[in-house]
Amino acid sequence: MTPTPEPQAAPTRPDPVFTPDAAFFWEGVARGELLGQRCSECHKLVHPPRPMCPACHSVKRETVKLSGRGKVYSCVIPRHPAPLGFAEAPLVALIELEEGIRLVSNVIDIPPASVRAGLEVEVTFAPTRGGKAVPVFRPRQGARP
Ligand SMILES: [Zn+2]
Repeated sequence: MTPTPEPQAAPTRPDPVFTPDAAFFWEGVARGELLGQRCSECHKLVHPPRPMCPACHSVKRETVKLSGRGKVYSCVIPRHPAPLGFAEAPLVALIELEEGIRLVSNVIDIPPASVRAGLEVEVTFAPTRGGKAVPVFRPRQGARP
């Protein structure tokens, strides 16, 4: 007789809300890819996605695949109240990707009090209650808190 698998709790994390400029980013996330916007004129990476390059004002842009590797630049543990969809507030971190852009996310698979600036992390994807996903980060293999 094989054991019955434990039922997985349904995800409670809210679905992403985004503008048309960021649709490519979220389509990538749905496929398990972390994508970025790069200016086709000056080649600057831009995040969050926007209609115009902040460096050269070009409206020509392209999509590039990002490594998903980076470091915690800064972080905060919200205490009260827990945001909608969370029993406890998740650690909120500013992640600096190795490509040089920063994005706001969560760090998982580590006690929040152990997360420090400089912690090496890699992207993974957390399911949302509407069947979508959001990029979150976990300590990279061999990284120390
Ligand atoms: Zn540019």
